[in-house]
Amino acid sequence: MKCKKVERFLLRSFDELLKEQEKNELKKHLESCALCQTRREEYQGILDALKENDFPVPKPNFWERLKPKLEEKKKYDPWSLWKQWAIRAIPASMLLVILFAAILILFIPLQKEELSESEDLLLRNLDPLQETTILLGEEKVEDKNMMLIFTAMEEKNSTGRYLP
Ligand SMILES: [Zn+2]
Repeated sequence: MKCKKVERFLLRSFDELLKEQEKNELKKHLESCALCQTRREEYQGILDALKENDFPVPKPNFWERLKPKLEEKKKYDPWSLWKQWAIRAIPASMLLVILFAAILILFIPLQKEELSESEDLLLRNLDPLQETTILLGEEKVEDKNMMLIFTAMEEKNSTGRYLP
């Protein structure tokens, strides 16, 4: 008997479908073939594992006792409906919180871009004396004085206009 045929015989032997003569043939082959012996052990192992996982048989009257409980649950219960809604609302509210946080993070730096004059000087490394240096470089003393006076007045006046 060939190993291929033995495999089919093995499967049938587990279902106890073999005739007496076939059983003997199988037995003889298994005694002489290590490969088919291992295969037989593997099959046996699989079958044993399946048997262990058999579902437990429900107790008698299981359905009779389950049915009223199911119908009880079907009854209108506003509290449980609200709870279901609330559970579904959790992800949505989480999303809103995340969106709100994202908006805050995105918009706060934009507001900070308007820096005060001193921040501007510090952060952008501007020279506060630049304007004054240019004015002092003017040739005429009168012009120099006038320009300095106007610049000082300009700084006091928030509109940036020259005062009369
Ligand atoms: Zn074999």
